[in-house]
Amino acid sequence: MELSYAEKRFENALKSVARNLDIKEYVQNSKDLYPLFQRSAKRFVTGETREEGIAVGAQLSEKGYDISLEFIGENTMEREACRQAKDEFVTMMQACGHQNLRSRISFDLSHIGLSVDPELALEHLLEMAAEAERYDLSLMISMEESGKTDDILEVYKKAVTQYEHIGVTLQAQLHRTLDDLQELLTYPGAVRLVKGAYQEPEELHIPRSETLDERFMELVQLCIQADFPVSVASHDETIYQQLMKRGCFEHSYVEAELLYGIRPDVCRRLKEKGVPVRVYLTYGQEWYLYLVHRIAEYPPNIYAAITDMIEGVEDIPALY
Ligand code: FAD
Repeated sequence: MELSYAEKRFENALKSVARNLDIKEYVQNSKDLYPLFQRSAKRFVTGETREEGIAVGAQLSEKGYDISLEFIGENTMEREACRQAKDEFVTMMQACGHQNLRSRISFDLSHIGLSVDPELALEHLLEMAAEAERYDLSLMISMEESGKTDDILEVYKKAVTQYEHIGVTLQAQLHRTLDDLQELLTYPGAVRLVKGAYQEPEELHIPRSETLDERFMELVQLCIQADFPVSVASHDETIYQQLMKRGCFEHSYVEAELLYGIRPDVCRRLKEKGVPVRVYLTYGQEWYLYLVHRIAEYPPNIYAAITDMIEGVEDIPALY
């Protein structure tokens, strides 16, 4: 989807609001604004607590969807906070295990230590991988801005040689991804392919365009040629239609993955056609940034956000 000039300005303005910690703090401390924004966030975030995330996960799982679950957070700058985030992921896995929710656990490495020290991120990742193994769950590492790609892939490669149930996300928009994927296909693990959410320098990336869509599909096909597990993570129905035409979803290790609250209609249609669909759920108190990003990346979401503030959010799981 290429944004118009006005939408691009809106996206940039919202992203700068999202980065402004004073505004975030103001909203979070305002007894009027906080509940209002929280109503809009409810469309995209299951709630502030683990219990809410797991309850929505169980509902969607009943309907035949696979689940990814994330405790929202990124760029944690203190060791103790990284440890607390890792502990929350461990507790979440134990809760999923006890409730028989066969979820995938998704997270940013910068939430569990990468921004402090890559060794700390690796240590926490290995601990989480051991816990995931205990409950037969899998882990999926998100991909962050290009300045972190090398560190994320280094930590991933070290961990996946010990634990095969870990995957990593790659961004089709980065030119380097073609080479990164070829290398990762020689490792165990799994890959999630996304177009890429970060604004990157011009020379490093392919902007939203047909060229990017073609690259995205080329990467999916490379995984298939190597019989490599791949999650096609997009809300772009045209991409799904084209991949279906090319027979890509006839392989059991290829799935579609969409964020909670976004295009539940596409999720339903894909599932009806027999495509395995995974819904990515989030919970936690850091929902403000997540909400602003969902609106910035697709400006028409502002209509739903304002309607939800006024009327309260509809029953989102019922839309699936
Ligand atoms: P676009 O080209 O952006 O849009 C195509 C069409 O999809 C639009 O016309 C519209 O119909 C629909 N659409 C797109 N976004 C929305 C929306 N917010 N609301 C409603 N409709 C929409 N990015 C990273 O950089 N790192 C990650 O680790 C990462 N993990 C992700 C995990 C999952 C499961 C998903 C689905 C996305 C993830 N992303 C990640 C975000 C991704 O990179 C894209 O920025 C995002 O998915 C938008 O691109 P798109 O492929 O959906 O299509």
